[in-house]
Amino acid sequence: MTNAINRRQLLAGGLAAGTMGAGVLAGSSASRAVQAPAVHSAKTKPAVIASGNGNIYKNGGTETCVERAFRLMTEGTDVLEALIAGVNIVEEDPEDTSVGFGGLPDADGRVTLDSCCMHGPKKRAGGVGALKGVRTPSKVAHMVAEQTDHHLLVGEGAQTFARNMGFSIEDDLNSTRSRQLWLEWKRRTDSRHYLNPAERAAVGHTVGLQMVAEGKIDPDHYYGTINCNGVNAAGDVCGVTTTSGLAWKIPGRVGDSPILGAGLYVDNTAGAAGSTGRGEANLYNLASFLIVEKLREGLHPKDAGIAALRRIVENTVERRLLDEAGRPAFNVNFYVLSKSGEHAGVALYGGPTRRYAVATEAGSDLLPIEGLFGDRT
Ligand code: ASP
Repeated sequence: MTNAINRRQLLAGGLAAGTMGAGVLAGSSASRAVQAPAVHSAKTKPAVIASGNGNIYKNGGTETCVERAFRLMTEGTDVLEALIAGVNIVEEDPEDTSVGFGGLPDADGRVTLDSCCMHGPKKRAGGVGALKGVRTPSKVAHMVAEQTDHHLLVGEGAQTFARNMGFSIEDDLNSTRSRQLWLEWKRRTDSRHYLNPAERAAVGHTVGLQMVAEGKIDPDHYYGTINCNGVNAAGDVCGVTTTSGLAWKIPGRVGDSPILGAGLYVDNTAGAAGSTGRGEANLYNLASFLIVEKLREGLHPKDAGIAALRRIVENTVERRLLDEAGRPAFNVNFYVLSKSGEHAGVALYGGPTRRYAVATEAGSDLLPIEGLFGDRT
């Protein structure tokens, strides 16, 4: 079982999720450093990994994202096409309020979507930001990569491009649920309508967090996204990230998800990394690029991810972003896959519900995300 093997590996390293602290992880990096680089050491074991929602939602069908992507990839479909077909399940499923149709909207109640994808062997990438009206922004990002000389199209231009590529444009991507949640947020924040803009933004954030605390919004869906990365038996590495971004964001806000090096990065000689969580923290550090560089240096995916988390901690200095212990008051997650098929999910904070999705020849599973600072509920 994939699960058993990975748990054994974790335990062998003394790194069961939720029990290790930063010091233990530092030791792990040191011990790995003497090993041969992962990219040169092992025969590729095909694998697809994703954020946890990649092995939960089925949109009424029979397969999850990682299951579909792994099946298609091992049947011979191009890796990126397989990954995009996988994330389309989550984009189209209204139950996932962090991605695509039914994603939580911006402060004006409009669902705007960000995505990017990257093809390792072709060395091509495409992205869209603040796209309205198309349930599957990952497909539009793929078209940007395939059909244009550019990487990133945003807003109205992205929508016009999508229309011209044959996508139908919908007026509203809210589901009943996302609209109800937005209405509730609006009702609570509008009672403070005459605040100055800074206070108003703070109230908006506080109310969002209240709704998370009350169980109305899944903590992973206030921020929330799907990142999905895969490698096939030939060692072709690709990745895709797609999101509705931060709930109730200022209209026009684009996060890390469509930005190469931040929400996603792929290098066919090393591996792939992608992210969910606080996009601004990731953008300031271009963490997915950093992780792939660490893979290239030979670090294990877990240690490469931890190196990026440490960089984020070092660069988080504003008091408003820190908790009482001086640690980041937010979470960022990374999903890291090496060219040889080794993988890890890491975050600033792990916890019993924090999992990442995996599909290999042994089947699909949800595995623990390891927290740099251990667990936080
Ligand atoms: N990283 C995404 C953003 O900041 C949201 C998320 O993954 O939760 O837009």
